[in-house]
Amino acid sequence: MRIVRTVTDLRAAVRSSERPVGLVPTMGALHEGHLSLIRSAREQNATVVVSVFVNPAQFRPGEDFDSYPRDEARDARLAEQAGADILFAPPVEEVYPPGFATSVEVHGLTEVLCGDPARRGPEHFRGVTTVVTKLFNMTQPDAAYFGQKDAQQAIVLRKLARDLDMPVRIEVRPTVREPDGLAMSSRNAYLSPADRERALALSRALRAAEEAVAAGRLDADDVLAAARAELAKAGVDPEYLELRSTEDLSPVERVNGSTLLAVAACIGRARLIDNTLLGGA
Ligand code: AMP
Repeated sequence: MRIVRTVTDLRAAVRSSERPVGLVPTMGALHEGHLSLIRSAREQNATVVVSVFVNPAQFRPGEDFDSYPRDEARDARLAEQAGADILFAPPVEEVYPPGFATSVEVHGLTEVLCGDPARRGPEHFRGVTTVVTKLFNMTQPDAAYFGQKDAQQAIVLRKLARDLDMPVRIEVRPTVREPDGLAMSSRNAYLSPADRERALALSRALRAAEEAVAAGRLDADDVLAAARAELAKAGVDPEYLELRSTEDLSPVERVNGSTLLAVAACIGRARLIDNTLLGGA
């Protein structure tokens, strides 16, 4: 596996590699969730590029940009084992050189859930869509791989690629979980043992909602009550717990074939998100 740090070197490495090219964008601190995306890219492409870049533009002031876990040597080892051919690990100035002044924004999907101005805000998604646009232009991949764990992000990125006619296939892969149900996340490293236990309430809440739906309780109030009861048992007050359409993230009053249940909560120092698709979505 080659490690490259500049756009020039990335382009040269991609140019001398076989197509199709699959890109897996990450912020590093790789875990099984990321590795499942890399393996998936490996199965479908002749060349796999993994980017590791903690993108300052998607963090709000006061969020965990400075303390975000960084261990490039470990990431490089894991990425290579999972099948990466090229690791792109640029310094911040390579992505945002002095004078950088452009952003890319998807409207309509980025003001709700995590994008609510009272939460991470639309600026978070503007940071994501801008850096992903840049990574697509730098790498020019045939396909790019993202996790269902960040469901809103995946919906926003599909819209980005469609609206701007980006010649890249967006592939979304299932959430990888710990054996006890906790969705894998680089931010799980922030959890104390007691917080780690409380964090299980998120996936339990999603399972309770799935069971309600399986039992035929499809009204939003019933589904959300089942989920909220699990959160309450663990004393978790969610930042949000909402049913939304997977098409356009509009609110859903009764579970249908395309319903997303999304939850976010702060547990100790970690802000965690999780979600499930309900009703056969
Ligand atoms: P991050 O490094 O957190 O920005 O995540 C990079 C990519 O990995 C994103 O597409 C995430 O959705 C995906 N990802 C993160 N956690 C998981 C997980 N537990 N299962 C599947 N994909 C994940």
